[in-house]
Amino acid sequence: MADIKGWGTGIMKKIAVLGSTGSIGTQTLSVIEEHQDFEVVALACGGNIELLEKQMRRWKPKLVAVWEEKAAAQLKLSTADLNIPVVWGMEGLMEIAVFPADILVTAIVGMVGIRPSIAAISAGKDIALANKETLVTAGHLIMPLAKERGISILPVDSEHSAIFQCLQGNKGNRIKKLYLTASGGPFRGKTREELLSVQVEDALKHPNWSMGRKITIDSSTLVNKGLEVMEARWLFDVKLDQIEVLVHPQSVIHSAVEYEDGAVIAQLGTPDMRLPIQYALYYPKRRSLSGERLNFFTQGALTFERPDMETFRGLPLAFTAMQRGGNIPTAYNAANERAVAMFLDHKISYMEIPEIIEAAMEECRFIEYPDVDEILATEQEAYEFIGSRW
Ligand code: NDP
Repeated sequence: MADIKGWGTGIMKKIAVLGSTGSIGTQTLSVIEEHQDFEVVALACGGNIELLEKQMRRWKPKLVAVWEEKAAAQLKLSTADLNIPVVWGMEGLMEIAVFPADILVTAIVGMVGIRPSIAAISAGKDIALANKETLVTAGHLIMPLAKERGISILPVDSEHSAIFQCLQGNKGNRIKKLYLTASGGPFRGKTREELLSVQVEDALKHPNWSMGRKITIDSSTLVNKGLEVMEARWLFDVKLDQIEVLVHPQSVIHSAVEYEDGAVIAQLGTPDMRLPIQYALYYPKRRSLSGERLNFFTQGALTFERPDMETFRGLPLAFTAMQRGGNIPTAYNAANERAVAMFLDHKISYMEIPEIIEAAMEECRFIEYPDVDEILATEQEAYEFIGSRW
């Protein structure tokens, strides 16, 4: 992967953030705040216009986008004094994606990130990618396009950033295995029977990481790990059977790479998303970062176990989805998005989440090499199927 163009020249880098009001988006801005090396030129969010207004007043971007026209009109009114254009909808997101910047952070949640990511890559922009759903569903389109355009997709997800860090200095060396670590979530060690009564509040308690609501639920079901397996497969161009999920409840080892000589290189640290975000923004440079440090002397034991594939069906289903390929990962992801939303709305039980994913994967009409329209049609198909059955 190439260095971010022009880094180290002393010139302020221009940055655009899709999903600036979310967990990753706000942490990205906090990293930028710490160093003041970036000029924030464009921001986008869904509907949280109160926070976006604050960000506009702080960063004075040149363009912002929101999802709905009504919210755009409201925001335009409340920020009239700033004179910053406000755009909306998918077209708005696309404008942010191609807005002249050195790097685009895709911190939006869901498949809504596919088109903007493709637009940004086509426009030759490096991407700091948090929006894993884009790679899961459209990796077969995104990765070849990025290669063709010679742009970098810099992982923000902590596990993928860890792997990316472990790969540095090893160009040409053969990878035997990628160890993708997982905390195991709040329900590690529980049985299927015990999980039948899980409530929303229980699932929103992650033992180590503080994240957005959807990804916190995904972590508890191990669907997040499943999505990460698929993401890793695309990012690092390895075979599916080279990816091993390793449950490591302390979340100290963020992931590891085993090389063919048996050497295992791991990246360790305290659980703080600002580090992988910062590494993506400054790659290949490291910068100082405030916050707690890993203390080996007080840390205590690091433990490891195999994931419980029987109880947490979301994980083996992800391997199946990736093995079947084509639009099946889209069915997996779309069904999960809908099922998690329904669970958060108290409309289905916790254990129905993997059930819905599996049913949608079965129901989906297989397309071997889906284009963006077909990916989005598969998403709709999954939603309609779920709507008709649940
Ligand atoms: P959040 O739910 O906290 O934030 C999502 C962001 O996307 C918000 O800014 C939201 O805006 C915006 N958004 C949602 N829908 C739209 C839309 N239709 N148009 C424009 N903006 C939209 O999610 P996270 O920050 O937790 O996660 C973001 C991505 O990063 C996900 O793909 C997740 O899997 C990945 N990720 C997250 C990690 C974490 O620690 N949180 C770790 C690794 C990866 P609004 O606030 O207005 O709704």
